[in-house]
Amino acid sequence: MSEYIICVFGSGGVGKSCLTMQFVQGVFLEKYDPTIEDVYKKTLECDGKQYDLEILDTAGSEEFSSMRDLYVSNGHGFVLVYSITSQATFNEVERYYERIISIKDVGKDGLPPIVLVGNKCDSEKDRIVSRETGQNLARKWKCSFLETSAKTKLNVAEVFYDLVRQINRA
Ligand code: GDP
Ligand code: MG
Repeated sequence: MSEYIICVFGSGGVGKSCLTMQFVQGVFLEKYDPTIEDVYKKTLECDGKQYDLEILDTAGSEEFSSMRDLYVSNGHGFVLVYSITSQATFNEVERYYERIISIKDVGKDGLPPIVLVGNKCDSEKDRIVSRETGQNLARKWKCSFLETSAKTKLNVAEVFYDLVRQINRA
């Protein structure tokens, strides 16, 4: 069985823990301790094969710790999350991208598998970041793009299927 390490990054409050919990446990937790950074495991069947996913749900300090950097360097795939209801979180996603790129040996291994995620797409009335804005950034980064809702489950599993397929191609 293949074991893949996936790291979930993004500003506080964008829904990293809710996405992770929805995917791993199938529940939407309205309130989740924003300081908890932990690793969750989930077995996924994708295209007839089983994968053991280890998912790091990052949290707390915006600074990258050496523990986190270690996860990044061992990480196979990355989920970069912003909220479609907040321009600031969209702007901040770039910082996480830069950090990942600087830790990964892009020259040797190429661009790492990444999915850019615009979460909270159930909150259409509060939308600030357009779908095209997200798509354009993903095009620039040559990565995948999905709008999700951890609340309604929309596209949550798809994020991880997409990553597994990208990792398999890498
Ligand atoms: P994190 O800091 O990135 O881990 O964010 P959380 O997962 O703790 O979520 C922050 C807040 O956003 C919580 O109040 C959640 O209930 C809410 N939230 C998370 N995902 C969604 C979503 O898809 N839709 C809506 N409407 N709210 C969400
Ligand atoms: Mg969290």
